[in-house]
Amino acid sequence: MRINTAGPAIIRKGLITMYITDLKHFLDANGAIAPIKGPAREMAQFLVDVTGAASSQSADAPLAPSCFKCKKETVDASVAADAAIIWFCPRCQAEGRISNWQATLWDLTGPQGFTG
Ligand SMILES: [Zn+2]
Repeated sequence: MRINTAGPAIIRKGLITMYITDLKHFLDANGAIAPIKGPAREMAQFLVDVTGAASSQSADAPLAPSCFKCKKETVDASVAADAAIIWFCPRCQAEGRISNWQATLWDLTGPQGFTG
């Protein structure tokens, strides 16, 4: 089976860069991170860290990772009303949306969050 390692759709709004990603594109058939190395791996790790931080409801939720782009600031991560995870870097203004994160290994919403 060929692993789809397609990168994010990148939208530029003036100086702002927005990363639109489908988390499943970064995972292999077992649900693990698919890219082994390089920038794709770095992005995949960032996305799963954001997903864990945003989806966890517990007091010991994992911290959101440093910004993928500037690497200097911790991003704000949350689940939007449409269930996409959104993240934003207050330093460089990079932002993104992550879809298809539900029921991955990094979905920490708890048993009620799993549908399959
Ligand atoms: Zn940044």
